[in-house]
Amino acid sequence: MLKVEHIGIAVQSLDEMIPFYEKLLNTPCYKTEVVESEKVNTAFFQKGTTKIELLESISEDGVIAKFLEKKGEGIHHIAFEVEDIESEMKRLSDEGFQLLQTVPKEGADNKLVCFLHPKSTKGVLIELCMERK
Ligand code: ZN
Repeated sequence: MLKVEHIGIAVQSLDEMIPFYEKLLNTPCYKTEVVESEKVNTAFFQKGTTKIELLESISEDGVIAKFLEKKGEGIHHIAFEVEDIESEMKRLSDEGFQLLQTVPKEGADNKLVCFLHPKSTKGVLIELCMERK
């Protein structure tokens, strides 16, 4: 793992939270992007080499809708950038961590991603991400 690439935060409404985070971080949102496969709309902010990813559900039965229902707004996941996502997935799987994907899938912001099951990471949802080439 190279670094924390971004922190994912679940929010009810991007329309409300983009201006809120622009004020908080004193940085403009540089991009929004819908990820259909995850049923989310995302918004990104950059601070140094780390990003904040806001996640809004675009469906009542999506993962973010379920998260908000259970826990409310707040930190959803921590994403680590990796050099080679497939070898990192194999390493973690060999170490006994449970992966939520068997092959990397397309994430927001031009990334290939894989999540680790929070049951195998003591309650923290971890994302591996690698820049698509
Ligand atoms: Zn993420």
